[in-house]
Amino acid sequence: MIYLDNAATSFPKPPSVTAEQTRCMREYCGNPGRGSHELALRAAEKIYECREEAASLFGSNHPENTVFTMNTTIALNMAIKGLLRRGDHVLLSDMEHNAVFRPIYRLAKNGEISYDIFPTHVLDTAAKAEIICHEIEKRITPRTRMLICAHSSNICSSSLPLKEIGALCRRNRLFFVVDAAQSAGHHSIDMQQMAISALCVPGHKGLFGPQGSGILLFGEGIKAETLFEGGSGYQSLEGNMPEEAPERYEAGTLPTPAISGLCEGIRTVKKLGTERIFQHEKLLNAYLQERLLALPKITVYTPHLIGSVLLFNVNGISADQVGNELNENGICVRAGYHCAALGHATLGTPTGGAVRVSPGIYNTFSHMDALVDAVKRIIQ
Ligand code: PMP
Repeated sequence: MIYLDNAATSFPKPPSVTAEQTRCMREYCGNPGRGSHELALRAAEKIYECREEAASLFGSNHPENTVFTMNTTIALNMAIKGLLRRGDHVLLSDMEHNAVFRPIYRLAKNGEISYDIFPTHVLDTAAKAEIICHEIEKRITPRTRMLICAHSSNICSSSLPLKEIGALCRRNRLFFVVDAAQSAGHHSIDMQQMAISALCVPGHKGLFGPQGSGILLFGEGIKAETLFEGGSGYQSLEGNMPEEAPERYEAGTLPTPAISGLCEGIRTVKKLGTERIFQHEKLLNAYLQERLLALPKITVYTPHLIGSVLLFNVNGISADQVGNELNENGICVRAGYHCAALGHATLGTPTGGAVRVSPGIYNTFSHMDALVDAVKRIIQ
């Protein structure tokens, strides 16, 4: 199989990730923070090591503000529901994934909050940070309390100017919540420079960790209400969750094997460097785009934005059918709406959505050739 669905989850994982996960299961998988015996302590040490690796990757000086979650979606729900209050107004972009849109939509439907969507002008080849910031500023009301957006889209290679948006949020005293599902490990992110209040990160995509690993990093001085309560192995006589991070936000047993693997995944990203990783993906997609556009009946969406994700359709054939036929040819891509109805509406894809190709560090130009050959057969 040729795997080209790294935007869903990265595969395969680096050998150091699987090795550490197995070592954890075999040698030190006590319950971290529960008791003071040797294996509980070793597990807790590994968890802390991973908090430090994550904090330093994302420009935070506070490893204790690194909270482990199961995935990006849970991190986003914790940030959204933990920071918003009744009556608040939220701004989100027109490219958001359902992991952002649905929690906001539900809160709004219940009459708890209101929201507005700002355009990111992804189709406009000249879209600049000032234009996007102007669109945001126009929509700020006295009730606006949060701006939430995906750093990079999951359906095309667009990224938002986080530094400029962060400065705008700081000036307007807004919580700045960033969905880094598609950018963590591909782009450099500095929480301090970008004034990020809460960064929501998948462990299982660009950081090469196992599924079941996600991270919510709070900015300095940010404290949220809890979404989950339970045992934290800490201040057990209290009815309230602890006031301090990370224990405040981590109710119940953590997935130590997943976090131990994630720790190695983050080290892999640091060793390779996000720039090199992104460059590799970009070169592959630039090559793919050129070859696809040389074929008849192909639409590539946002061809002016080349990066980690390429979205296309074979005109006249449903995305689903193309995805299934590619699968029969041994190629894994994702077809459909990619949990991003807002983004698909913004790009104007047809009913049925489109086909997404997302290469990773283990892909080569010959994988792209195999994909193009399979698309040629489908067209014929
Ligand atoms: N946001 C974006 C932009 C995504 O691409 C995804 C994953 N498809 C998510 C959020 C949700 O990530 P997870 O599966 O880790 O919850």
